[in-house]
Amino acid sequence: MEIKEPTHVVLISSPGLGHIIPVIELGKRFVVHHSFKVTILAVTSKTSRAESQIINKALSLYHLINIHPPDLTAHLHQNDRMVTRLCVMMRHALPAIRSTISKLTPRPSALIVDIFATEAIAIARELNVLTYVFVASHAWFLSLLLYSPFLHHKIQGQYVDQKEALKIPGCSPVRPEDVCDPMLDRSDTQYAEYLGLSNGIQQSDGVLVNTWEELQFKTLEALREGGLLSQALNMKIPVYAVGPLVREPELETSSVTDSVVCWLDEQPTESVVYVSFGSGGTMSYEQMNELAWGLELSGRRFVWVVRAPIEGAADAAFFTTGNKCNQVDEVVKYLPEGFVSRNKKVGLLVPEWAQQVTILKHRSVGGFVSHCGWGSTLESLTNGVPMIAWPLYAEQRMNATMLAEELGLAVRPKVLPTKKVVQREEIARMVREVVQGDDENAKTNRVRERMKDVQRSAIKASSEGGSSYVALSHVAKTIVGADGLN
Ligand code: UDP
Repeated sequence: MEIKEPTHVVLISSPGLGHIIPVIELGKRFVVHHSFKVTILAVTSKTSRAESQIINKALSLYHLINIHPPDLTAHLHQNDRMVTRLCVMMRHALPAIRSTISKLTPRPSALIVDIFATEAIAIARELNVLTYVFVASHAWFLSLLLYSPFLHHKIQGQYVDQKEALKIPGCSPVRPEDVCDPMLDRSDTQYAEYLGLSNGIQQSDGVLVNTWEELQFKTLEALREGGLLSQALNMKIPVYAVGPLVREPELETSSVTDSVVCWLDEQPTESVVYVSFGSGGTMSYEQMNELAWGLELSGRRFVWVVRAPIEGAADAAFFTTGNKCNQVDEVVKYLPEGFVSRNKKVGLLVPEWAQQVTILKHRSVGGFVSHCGWGSTLESLTNGVPMIAWPLYAEQRMNATMLAEELGLAVRPKVLPTKKVVQREEIARMVREVVQGDDENAKTNRVRERMKDVQRSAIKASSEGGSSYVALSHVAKTIVGADGLN
C-alpha cells in the first residue's frame, strides 16, 4: 500500500524574536493539529544571542533551517532604520531561500512568509503553490499597513504634523503620534520599504494575522471581502485570524530563571510587577533613573529586566540583545545610588534577558510594565496579567492606545516615553493602580477583571473548535485541496 507523504509547508521568518517566536508557534500548530510537515526558514541577524538560543532550541524539535544573510555592509548605511534593515536583509537572503527551497523534499505545497519576506512570493509563483502572508501583529496594524498607499496619496506632508487622526475605513482612527515608526518620516527610506510591504501582501493568496475574532471582530470584518476596508482597497484576499500564537514556558530553565521563580514562589499572589521592554527596548539614563525611583516609590515588589541605557534609540538592542550587561553588577552603575540595597527584599534585577513566559505565568505576577511589542502583549493577555503600557518603537504606540483606550487592558503614562521622560510619581501611580499592595483591602480592579475575560476568550479561540483553530483548519484544508490539483 502506498503511504501518502504529509503535506509540506515552508514558513519564512525575518530576524527579530517578535517574528521568529510566533512563526515557530504557527509551525507547531500545522504539525500538531494538521499533521503537516513543516520547514521553517529563519533568517537571523548574526549578532543576537537571544535569537540563536531560541533557534537552537527549536532546531531539536522542528525542521528549522537558519539562513544568515550575506555581508550587508555595502548595502546598508549606518543610519538605516529597522524596516530598511529588515527589508534589505530579507532581499539579500532570497537567493539562499530559493536554493534551500529547491532542495526540499517533498516539494512544499505552500509558502507562508512573514511581512518582511513578501518578495519570496515570487518563489511560490515559480513553484505554482499557494502563498500566505503571516502578520505577527494585530488586525488594526494590518489595516493601517494596507491602507498606507492610499494615505500616501491623500495626505500631504508628514503624518505626525496632521491635526486630525488618520481615518481607515471600518477601523479606529489612528492618532498622528501613534503611527508606526516607518510613517514618522516620509523622506526616510524605511517609509518606501513600508509601502512596498503593503503591495507585497496584495500579491498573496491570503493573510494570517496573529489575533483572534473575539478580540478584533470589527476590524477583521472591515478587512474581509465586502467589508469597508476591503472595498476601499478593492482587496479580495481572505484574512484569517489564527492567534494568539504564544509560547508555553520553556521546559529547560536557566539558573537565573530558577532563582527568579524561587523568589516569586515566596511572594503573595499577584503582588509583583514585571518590567521588561522586549528584545530591543532601551531607554535613556535619565529615564532609567526615574523608572528605578518610580518602582521604589510604588512600594510594590518588582522583577526588572535591566539593560544599559542608550540615548536616543529606543530600539537600539533589537539586533544585538544579550551582548551588553550580562551581570547585575554591570547594570547597577546606571541605577540610583543605594537602589539595590534599599530594594533587596522587594525587587529582583535580571540583566538583559529573562525567560518571560515563565515569569508571566507565575501566580505572583500581577502587572507587566511592557513596551507593548505584540508578542509580549499576547503573552500578557494569555496569562491574564494587566499591563502598564510603555510604547517605544515599531507599532507599539498603536498597541498601547488599543490596549488602554479600546480594550481597557492597560494603563499608560500621559506622555509618550520616547518624547518626554515619564516622571517617578506617575510611574509609582500606574504601578499602584495595577498591582495591589499588601496593606490594601481587596478592591475591584477593572483592568484586571477585563484582562481575565480576555484571557478566557484567548484560550477559547485557540482550543479545538475555537475561532482561530477553525480558521487555521480552513487554511490547512485549502492547502491540501490545492495540492491535489497540482
Ligand atoms: N522576550 C523574552 N525575554 C526578554 C525579552 C523578550 O523572552 O527578556 C521575548 C518575549 O517573551 C517575546 C519576544 O521576546 O516573545 C519579544 O517580542 P515582542 O513582539 O514583544 O517585541 P519585540 O522584541 O519584537 O519588540
